[in-house]
Amino acid sequence: MLANVENGSVVTLETECRICAGKNRRVVSGVGRGSKPLTTVICTGCGLVHSHPIPTKEELDRFYTVDYRKAYKSTYEPKLKHTYRYAPGAYQRVAEIARHASPEQTRFLDIGSGSGEFLYMARKAGFKVTGIEPNTGYADYTRRVLGLPVQNCTYETAALDPDGYDIINLNHVLEHLPDPLASLRVINSLLRESGLLSVAVPDIQHTNHAPWTRFHFAHIYNFNHETLKAMLLKAGFEIIPEGSASTTFLARKVSEHFSDAPMEMPENYETLWADLHATSTIGHVASKKGIGRFLNKCYRYPKEYLLAVSHGNAPKILDRVFARMNRTAPVRAGTDPRS
Ligand SMILES: [Zn+2]
Repeated sequence: MLANVENGSVVTLETECRICAGKNRRVVSGVGRGSKPLTTVICTGCGLVHSHPIPTKEELDRFYTVDYRKAYKSTYEPKLKHTYRYAPGAYQRVAEIARHASPEQTRFLDIGSGSGEFLYMARKAGFKVTGIEPNTGYADYTRRVLGLPVQNCTYETAALDPDGYDIINLNHVLEHLPDPLASLRVINSLLRESGLLSVAVPDIQHTNHAPWTRFHFAHIYNFNHETLKAMLLKAGFEIIPEGSASTTFLARKVSEHFSDAPMEMPENYETLWADLHATSTIGHVASKKGIGRFLNKCYRYPKEYLLAVSHGNAPKILDRVFARMNRTAPVRAGTDPRS
């Protein structure tokens, strides 16, 4: 639709921005990962970055069944080094959630539970957990290997508890959805009064990716701190600052009524536009970010592989990481955080 439109040019769209209601967008990039054509634009009224056009449901279905076909095979299993890599982060996040939950807030729903590290840690911490995972391979794996109650579907088609949930986790899910504000409002309705939402997406402002791998067909929306915060506020949440940094937020449901008042943030657009262009294509490889990422991979990956293999299986890895971290920073659902 925007073929032949040059980077940097401003276009006016039919659809209003979900944050600021503006219609002007500036073209950020015409290429996505794998050198595929992908137009990415930034809203000049607030800095919200998204693909244009927004892919249709049919296009997304085709993408996930063709490009991600391997991951859809029922025999697909996450590698042990992957479990080893994500376990400590999952523990830390569950501990952060538990610190802000009241003793009664124990019903934990993970939307997009993936390979199950969050759910496993949350269950060990004492939460009553349920997962939803659209990927058949992951859903099957988490049920069979980790013994977790996971439904293989999307949240729109899941059999959900009519009494609602106290905590919802949304880890690297929101950027894949075609209308994240509408989804956050549905999630609000699934939470009980004062329920907690933990949400994390990649930060487009502080990405380590080189400019030519920064944008991806599957990531329809690219958030920075300000744009994700704005969407959470528009979906009836308040931010819990101690649990929030960059594009990881802990938020509390404060209202079931949503304001559609435009939130203009032109200064966020200006800062983000400048940051997205601060690292040139050639400069990236030599930059600290690029080199650091490369060296980190060289060191981390073989070590992870050896440690993971020596632990034997995924539940053992998760149990050991939980036990080790729980000794220094104990986590338990149902404890009074004020006592
Ligand atoms: Zn906007």
